[in-house]
Amino acid sequence: MKNGRKIEDVCDFVVKPIIEALEEAERGKKISPWTKQWKDDGTANTLTGILARNGVSRRPYNGINWLILNMFPEYNSPDWFTLNQLKKLTGMDRPIPDGEFENAMSIVFWKMIDHRTERDSRGRPKKFPLAKTYLVWNRDQIPALPEPKPDVIPPDFDPKTEIDKYLTNLDLRGGVNLGGNRACYIPSQDAICLPLNSAFFNEHQREGTKAHEGIHATGAKHRLNRKMAKGWFDDEAYAYEELVAELGAAMTCAYLGMPLTELQHTSYIASWLKHLKDDPSFIMSAAAHANKAFNYLIGEHASLQSESKESLAYAA
Ligand SMILES: [Zn+2]
Repeated sequence: MKNGRKIEDVCDFVVKPIIEALEEAERGKKISPWTKQWKDDGTANTLTGILARNGVSRRPYNGINWLILNMFPEYNSPDWFTLNQLKKLTGMDRPIPDGEFENAMSIVFWKMIDHRTERDSRGRPKKFPLAKTYLVWNRDQIPALPEPKPDVIPPDFDPKTEIDKYLTNLDLRGGVNLGGNRACYIPSQDAICLPLNSAFFNEHQREGTKAHEGIHATGAKHRLNRKMAKGWFDDEAYAYEELVAELGAAMTCAYLGMPLTELQHTSYIASWLKHLKDDPSFIMSAAAHANKAFNYLIGEHASLQSESKESLAYAA
């Protein structure tokens, strides 16, 4: 239920306290670090090609392996298998077709190994990390694999709630994909990934995270066409877009009547300002973009074809 603030008050209501908090931080008051607002509940997101995972356990890969398997190969399936897994699943000695063996991806795992001779102060073998690499193949490379069982994702999206309605109204090409340990918007697929509702520590953090990803989605070419980071290395553009997303999320939360003090917008914004060389003027222009994005998200974009006065004031 929407019982928050009027649209026209929202920008000031959100931006002023954030600027005050950042000014206090400049004078030495500590801003507590941002922490993830949901727990890893062990589910996997099913958005194809987004979340590379072990094809047998269906657990997503982490860290460098996630990067290797998600960023480079262009397969439709998120499932990856080792040779042993493929042998077991297909019952074949040579499950990999000719010409595909060399197209394996190499992933790495770290194992703590006991040192043969060195001992710690209590006489136990010292441990050292050993990297072990594995070759894995994508489901698309192995025609002999049986069809995957469909993922069971609990119905967890309720378009009747205000925030889910906003996400639904964005009409994302790749949809809203639930489950897993990641919240993100993927521009190439025009898709949002979110942990399950039950993974969030409280309802405000859940709505805030949804709003954050929704604001990212408003920046797509066919929506507000906001300049977004081109890649992970476009550091400043990325930081700027994060500022816009978090300010927009704070505006959405205020509009929905959530207590902003319970949320961590300021910490998040402060952390991204560091990437923008601590220049507070970025906050003002980001607030103008965020205001536009917020209006778009809540469905007021039709009345905002020409920029509002507040928006221009913040852009100045
Ligand atoms: Zn973000």
